[in-house]
Amino acid sequence: MINIPKVIDLVVKNDMCIGCGLCIYKCPSQALEVQINDYGFLIPEQISSCDSDGECITVCPFNPFPKEEVKTENEIAEIYFDKATKYQEKVGRYVNIYAGYANEFRLNSSSGGIATYIFTELIERGIVDHVFSVKQSTKPGFYYEYSISNNRKELSEAAKTRYFPVTLATVMPEIHKLKGKVAIVGVACFIKAIRLAQHTEPLLKDKIPFLVGIICGGVKSSFFTEYLASKVNIPIENIKKPQFRIKDLNSTAGDYSFGCSSTDDNSKKLIRMGSLGDMWGTGLFKANACDFCDDVTTELADISLGDAWLEPFNKEGKGTNVIVTRSFLADKILQEGITSGKLRIETLPLDKFIFSQQGSFNHRQTGLSVRIKKTEKQNILVPPKRFGNLKTNISFKLVQKQRIKVRRESLQKWKYHPNALSFDKEMAKDLKLLKRVTRISHYHRAIIKRIKKIFN
Ligand SMILES: Cc1cc2nc3c(=O)[nH]c(=O)nc-3n(C[C@H](O)[C@H](O)[C@H](O)COP(=O)(O)OP(=O)(O)OC[C@H]3O[C@@H](n4cnc5c(N)ncnc54)[C@H](O)[C@@H]3O)c2cc1C
Repeated sequence: MINIPKVIDLVVKNDMCIGCGLCIYKCPSQALEVQINDYGFLIPEQISSCDSDGECITVCPFNPFPKEEVKTENEIAEIYFDKATKYQEKVGRYVNIYAGYANEFRLNSSSGGIATYIFTELIERGIVDHVFSVKQSTKPGFYYEYSISNNRKELSEAAKTRYFPVTLATVMPEIHKLKGKVAIVGVACFIKAIRLAQHTEPLLKDKIPFLVGIICGGVKSSFFTEYLASKVNIPIENIKKPQFRIKDLNSTAGDYSFGCSSTDDNSKKLIRMGSLGDMWGTGLFKANACDFCDDVTTELADISLGDAWLEPFNKEGKGTNVIVTRSFLADKILQEGITSGKLRIETLPLDKFIFSQQGSFNHRQTGLSVRIKKTEKQNILVPPKRFGNLKTNISFKLVQKQRIKVRRESLQKWKYHPNALSFDKEMAKDLKLLKRVTRISHYHRAIIKRIKKIFN
């Protein structure tokens, strides 16, 4: 009889896998391989006999039975950032919070170019020798993938946000063959997986001295890229070089476009993302696991970077980062960048930073209890969560339930109707209902706020 790897049994089967690929790196029997599933997500699949005792599950960010010492992000942060004295329960441990940009890298980046700046500094100061980040892929159908960069030019090629499924399985198995140290970029769950791997294999702490965290509103299936391409009349088989964050330097930061070339005639087509309606708050094409992640700000990275979705920064089409430093090395690199004039950044008050990610906090932390209750009723295993018991009112619950439906339906519908015109038609009713319940929920919240004000 072939044993089933624990990660398949406890995570993949429950649709809780995010495809980080650390289980593939960890598996001593090399029984796992990454594959794209029917819904456009990368997941591990068993390819040979599993002779191990469940090592794979120890590095899984969605392990339903983690050890007490690494139970949630709080315990893990205590191991890695015990010297970061500031703490806020939504944001985690930190050293400082800023907003700003890197002069040299801003225009070629998605936000303010701080990620590319940090990696360039790490390489040029000799702190690391290699960077694992996301670059164009040569594999057919895989437009982007994690690969290795070693210099300024390669790091610039790896700039920009790719809303496309990627996995560390393309680079982690190589890590011990590389001479020197490695820095890695990742969204919260990927960073958590690396911290878990460092916990089980202390050699990796020295090998990976720096992690850049990307604040993430959800990992999208490859269907998202296909849908956007279809919106500009490029069929799936002709998609070439999709670009997710094309800035308009004369407009606001949020007014960015999706662009794509066609293998047919090399013509490049653009569409303003704002013209497509809400692609993020609705949960369209999002991984189920993201609905069970309560780490909004990538609490386990040395530095966390996001978009400054707040005034006055959002008025600037060139892009601006919000930045949270959690290690003193990260903070030092930024402070030295300010002194040398390479960075234009300023301190950002905690409440303003929280405001910049308010939608994500509402969904991922406040709304989590609704999803956990629903999932537990279906006997699906959920990893231990810090924000799983928050009370919510009836209208907010309805929004969460409708979002669950929209997320699930968007994947089902695209699978059978991979054309934007028919997909939009198929989704219209559910999206309209979501809009309606969201409006009611906002109204409800405003009334409660007003009543509280009167009685206080
Ligand atoms: C899936 C996803 C969701 C996001 N959601 C939000 C959000 O809700 N709110 C918010 O404020 N910010 C969000 N961001 C982050 C934001 O888009 C920027 O990536 C971030 O602000 C860094 O900008 P930068 O200009 O400093 O990065 P750049 O200098 O442009 O460098 C970007 C870095 O990210 C790496 N990268 C690109 N795509 C991926 C990927 N899929 N996974 C891991 N690394 C990648 C690149 O290789 C590069 O190293 C999201 C990013 C991603 C990838």
